[in-house]
Amino acid sequence: MGTSPVRNPVIDPRFTCFNVVIRKSSIHRYGVYARERIPANRKVIEYTGERVNRREAKLRGNGKYTYLFALDNYWTLDGAVGGSGAEIINHSCDPNLVSRVMKGHVLYMSLREIKPGEELTVDYHLDWNPPTTPCQCGTAKCRGTLELKKKR
Ligand SMILES: [Zn+2]
Repeated sequence: MGTSPVRNPVIDPRFTCFNVVIRKSSIHRYGVYARERIPANRKVIEYTGERVNRREAKLRGNGKYTYLFALDNYWTLDGAVGGSGAEIINHSCDPNLVSRVMKGHVLYMSLREIKPGEELTVDYHLDWNPPTTPCQCGTAKCRGTLELKKKR
């Protein structure tokens, strides 16, 4: 089954700490862009979504579009339902955000200073999706796929 693509993605301001906006992206469909300078090591946005168990996550992960974030071995957040907008953030092999799981919450933190107009990116480190997903991030460090090469 899988989830259908989020049609009109929006940023939920309750979960963002900076002014960010969703725009068309050159990486993939939509992306999230900074509208102001974001210093390094700051919480930028929380990844929210419906909390689903391992079996349900497997079902939802089969589609073309998925917005799943594995919290641990059992629980996964599905950003397609109640997502903050963080689910729209694209993958890059040389990202400017990193995810941190704290007390069941997923926080996207800035790895470095981000300039206004820059697209926000995070390394998905996919490991739950057997087929390889080609990467189009275009950075010098691109490893060619979204799948895991090192442990989160
Ligand atoms: Zn890449």
